[in-house]
Amino acid sequence: MSLLIAEVIVDVATYHVDRPFDYQVPIEWQTVIETGCRVKVPFGPRNVLGFVVGLKDTTDVPAGKIKPIAEVLDMEPVLTKEMLAMAKWLKNNTICYEIDALQVMLPSALRAKYEKIVVLQVEKEHLPVDVQGFFQKRQQVNMKEFERADLLPLLKQLIVQKMVKIDHVVKQQGNVKAVRMVKITQEAQVIAQAIADTTRAVKQRLLLEWMLQHLGEIFTPQQICEEVGISSAVLQAVIEKEVAHYTQEEVYRDPFTKDVTRTQSLQLTAEQHVVLKAISEAMEEQVAKTFLVQGVTGSGKTEVYLQAIQKVLNEGKQAIMLVPEIALTPQMTERFRSRFGELVAVMHSGLSVGEKYDEWRKIQQGKVSVVVGARSAIFAPFTNLGLIILDEEHESTYKQEDSPRYHARDVAIWRSVYYQCPVILGSATPALESFARAKKGVYTLLTLKQRALQQALPTVFIADMREELQKGNRSMFSQQLVEAIRIRLMKQEQMVLFLNRRGYSSFVLCRDCGTVVQCPNCDISLTYHRTTEKLKCHYCGYEERVPQICPQCQSDHIRYFGTGTQKVEEEIYKLFPEARVLRMDVDTTAQKGAHETILQAFGEGQADILLGTQMIAKGLDFPNITLVGVLSADTSLHLPDYRAAERTFQLLTQVSGRAGRHDKPGEVIVQSYTPDHYAIELAKTQDYEPFYEREMFLRRRFSYPPYYFVTLIQITHEDVMMAAEYAGRAADWLQANLSQQTAIIGPTAASISRLQNRYRYQCLIKYKIEPNLINVLQRLLAMYRAEWTKQGILMTIDLDPSTI
Ligand code: ADP
Ligand code: ZN
Ligand code: ZN
Repeated sequence: MSLLIAEVIVDVATYHVDRPFDYQVPIEWQTVIETGCRVKVPFGPRNVLGFVVGLKDTTDVPAGKIKPIAEVLDMEPVLTKEMLAMAKWLKNNTICYEIDALQVMLPSALRAKYEKIVVLQVEKEHLPVDVQGFFQKRQQVNMKEFERADLLPLLKQLIVQKMVKIDHVVKQQGNVKAVRMVKITQEAQVIAQAIADTTRAVKQRLLLEWMLQHLGEIFTPQQICEEVGISSAVLQAVIEKEVAHYTQEEVYRDPFTKDVTRTQSLQLTAEQHVVLKAISEAMEEQVAKTFLVQGVTGSGKTEVYLQAIQKVLNEGKQAIMLVPEIALTPQMTERFRSRFGELVAVMHSGLSVGEKYDEWRKIQQGKVSVVVGARSAIFAPFTNLGLIILDEEHESTYKQEDSPRYHARDVAIWRSVYYQCPVILGSATPALESFARAKKGVYTLLTLKQRALQQALPTVFIADMREELQKGNRSMFSQQLVEAIRIRLMKQEQMVLFLNRRGYSSFVLCRDCGTVVQCPNCDISLTYHRTTEKLKCHYCGYEERVPQICPQCQSDHIRYFGTGTQKVEEEIYKLFPEARVLRMDVDTTAQKGAHETILQAFGEGQADILLGTQMIAKGLDFPNITLVGVLSADTSLHLPDYRAAERTFQLLTQVSGRAGRHDKPGEVIVQSYTPDHYAIELAKTQDYEPFYEREMFLRRRFSYPPYYFVTLIQITHEDVMMAAEYAGRAADWLQANLSQQTAIIGPTAASISRLQNRYRYQCLIKYKIEPNLINVLQRLLAMYRAEWTKQGILMTIDLDPSTI
C-alpha cells in the first residue's frame, strides 16, 4: 500500500508550533489532494483548517501516532506554487507565522465557512450511472453527498475529463449566485418542431415556436415567461418534454454601480513618451526592473500606467495596479474600466466578503487581466504577471500593521523577480527611501516635470495663523481663505477643504478643572461625534454618552473643543449659509459605497465644497476645482514620528495637486502656525528635490532611515510593571546578541502608552548592517513563545515600522 503523507500548516491560535505537521492522506482523498489545497485536520481535541504545503511518502512520525486528514476542502489548489514560496519569504522577512502569511493571500471567504458545490456541465446520459443519480433532479450537488457515497475518486476523474465542473459556493450573503437558467438546446429543434406541429395546447405551441427562434440560447425562466406571455406551468410542461433544460450560470455580483464610457489612448506628451518607452523596453526584455516614476501632480502618470498595461494585455499577460486607499478606487477604477472594460477586477476593503471572493475568483479563473485595488490586491492570484504598479508609492497604507507586517512595495518587487517583469513606483513625492534607492541606481528614476496639459501648478499661499490671531481673528478660517471661498461661491467653482488628520477632532474638556474625557481602556482622549451625541475612542471602539457634568469635579462647564470636520462644516454654514457642503470622513463613509456616492455627487456639481480628512487629499481629478484650503497644516508636523516632516510635505503637495488640473488655474491656501518650517515652505513650490536634500541631511544627522534601518519591538501587558520588565529583558537580550555597532534604544513607553487596557513598552533597533538580525529576532521570538507568553506578555516585531 502506498503511503501518502501531507505536510500541513495548521491554523491554530496558540502559535507554539510554527512548522508543518505530517498527516496521513486516506485512500479516498489520495487522487484529490494537491499541494496548495485547504484541508481539515485533527489538532488537539478538534478539527482545524490547514494548508497542504507538501506531499511525500515517508514520515518520521511513528505509524501508530500519525493522524489522518479529516477532509480535503479543495478540488483545485487555492494556493499556487508561487504563493507557497512567497509565504516562506514573508515568514522569514517579516518574522511572522507561516499560517498568517498563507492566510493573507486569500480572500476571507476562503478562510471562513464555505460549502462546495458540484455543477453539472454535460448531458446527464454521458455520466456514470452512480453520479447520474445525484444529478437526477438538480443541477448542483453538495460535495458532501459524494463523500458519503464514497464517490469522490470517480468525481475527480469526471472533473479532470471536464465532464462536471466544481465550484465553491460560499453560503454567505453577496456571493456568487448560482442562478437557475433555461437552456434551449440545438438538438431540441426536431423535437420542438414535431411537438409544435401536433400539440393542441395553444400556449405550449406559442412557446415552442418562440424557442425554435432561440436555439442554443439561455434565459432565466422569468424572461421566457414574460417574453412569450405564458405561465411557469407551461414552461415546466415543455421542459419536461426535453426541449430545453435547466442549467446553472454563475452570476458575479457587480461591484461597479454605473456604466462607463470607453476611452482611447491619448497622444502622449514627449515626457510621457520617454517614460513609457523605458518601461516597454524592460517588458520586452522580460527583466525584473523597478522604476520610480516621479511626476508632479497632473503630469499624466495614470495615462502612462494605462498605456503600459495595454502593452501587457497585448502580450497576453496580466497587471496589478495598487492604489493606497479605497477612497481613490472609484475614480481610478472608472478610468481603468473605461479603458479595459470587463477585463478589470477591483479589490478593496469596501467590498463585501462575497464581492471580494467573486473578484478573486474572476482573477483565479483568468476572466480578468487587470486588478485595481488596495494593499492586499498585491496578492492577486494571477499566474502570468507582466507589470505591477504602486500609485502614490509613498503612502503608509501600503504597509500592513498586523501580522504579516509586509510592505506592498517589497511584495511587488518579489513577484516581479518571480515573473521577470517590471514594477512601477509612481508618486509626486516619493518616499525618501525610494528616492534614495533611485539615486543609488537600485531603482531606475524617470521624471515627469510638467503637467500633461501644460497647466501651471497651482499658486500656493501660506496664511500665517499667528498674524490672524494678532489681528483678533479667532476663527478657524483666515481672512484670505474666507475671501477665496467667497469668490469661488460667486463664480460657481468648486473647492476642497482639507482637515489634516482624523485624530485632530473634537474632544470634551472641563473648563473648570481642565479634564479631558479619556477612554477608560486607552491613553487617548475620546472624540466627540455630534450626530450621535456620543464620545468614541478611535482606537478601541469604546463609546459613551456625552457627560453633562465633569467626571472629575462635577462642574457643568463642560463642552467640546477642537475642529473636527463636523465643527468645520457648521462654521462654513455660519459664514456662508448658501454654500453646499459635502463632508467626507470616517462618519459619512461608514456605509458601503459611500465614498463613491459622495464623489459622484461632487463630480456632478451637487456641492460647492468637499470637506474632508486624509481621504480627499489624493487622486481626485475634477475639472471644476479651483481652490484647495488646508485648514491646519501643522497638525501632522507635531506627531512623535521621525517621518512627520516627510508626511506633512507629501500631504500638502498631494492636496494642493487637486486644484487647477484642467483649464481653470488653481489656488491653494495653506493655514499654518509654523509657516517657516521647511516642510511647509517647500510644499509651496511643490519642489521635491530641495525637500529631499534638506530632509536627508537631518536623517543622516540623527541616524534615521534611509541611512539606518530600524526594527521596532513592542511589548504589552495588562500590568505596567510586567510590560516594562519584559521590554527591559528584550533590550538586554538584543544588546547581548547583536553586534556592537547596532544601537538598542529603550525600553521606553510607547507614544500611546496604554491601549485596550494593555500597557505598551517598546525598544528600537537601529542598525546599518546587521547580518544576524533575522536569526537573532527568530531566537527572541522562540524565547517569547516558549516562556513569555505564559506570563501574559504579547510581543510584536516590526522590521520596517511606518511610525515609531
Ligand atoms: P497624474 O496621475 O500624474 O496625477 P493624470 O494621468 O491624472 O495625472 O493626468 C492629469 C490630467 O491630464 C487628466 O485629466 C488626464 O486625462 C490628462 N492627460 C494625461 N495625459 C494626457 C495626454 N497625453 N494628453 C492629454 N491629456 C492628458
Ligand atoms: Zn472638571
Ligand atoms: Zn479606547
